[in-house]
Amino acid sequence: MKSYFKKEMALLLTLLALTAGCGREAPPAEEGKIPVAASFGAMEKLTEAIGGDAVSISVMVPEGIEPHDFEPRAGDLIRLKQARVFVYNGMGMEHWAEKALQSAGAENQVVVKASEKVAPIPLEDEEEREEHGDYDPHTWLGLSEAKEEARAIRDGLIAASPENRDRFMKNYDTFAKSIDSLQQEYREKLAKAPRKELVTGHAAFGYLARDFSLTQESVEDAFATGEPPARKLVELIRFCRAHHVKTIFTEEMMDPALARTLASEAGASAETLSTLEEPGSEGYLDTMRDNLEKIDKALN
Ligand SMILES: [Zn+2]
Repeated sequence: MKSYFKKEMALLLTLLALTAGCGREAPPAEEGKIPVAASFGAMEKLTEAIGGDAVSISVMVPEGIEPHDFEPRAGDLIRLKQARVFVYNGMGMEHWAEKALQSAGAENQVVVKASEKVAPIPLEDEEEREEHGDYDPHTWLGLSEAKEEARAIRDGLIAASPENRDRFMKNYDTFAKSIDSLQQEYREKLAKAPRKELVTGHAAFGYLARDFSLTQESVEDAFATGEPPARKLVELIRFCRAHHVKTIFTEEMMDPALARTLASEAGASAETLSTLEEPGSEGYLDTMRDNLEKIDKALN
């Protein structure tokens, strides 16, 4: 998160930490199921798609907390230690993972770094690199990348529970087929769209943009430090006008007023996309279909 958001977010985090208190303890794993710790929402959803009823997932980054800003507490480490499998994205998304794994000191735990085999997008912006490392960490928001991550999760679950091999293989095949058809459907739709410019809340959709040959501009980047924010904002508004951008996207964890103000300046409307960074009720495929429907509408 960039500085302007960071201040508000830091305050919000403090408030949430105070009010959340002991509410962060997850219920114990259901009997007979494989206890899995997933780092944040998207990892939960992908694990759910492959593990189905055989797994009991506890999400480490709680609702309302930005995964980029998360710091595990003692209770989180206990849950991590109790998990048979730990699923995290990697690629700089969970800066805390290595240390937490060391502190938790679980034995015979299967650790799945889901992004292991994803072809990374290098970050060019100096500030982005400071924030996230060398690569864009939002791999799960690309469909083919998510399929790759689901495969890594499948293999991790099989390693932890070989007796469930057939079930995990079958769930993966079903998931992979759905991903392929969703990708095919929106490749055709978005290829015909007259607009190719996707304006997002924070730059989380780089992999999706790569998969569908779109370009991404983010509202948060317009608040980058080191440059007068007014100038960057004016540039973004000009960009939106020049490309007849219809929709400026925002996210669940962002202040909607900002996108709305920008949108009205640019003659656009504001709409919410899910980055799957929060634990949510909808599954991965439903969430992404919903995102793609909104993007398709915005670009047509
Ligand atoms: Zn993010």
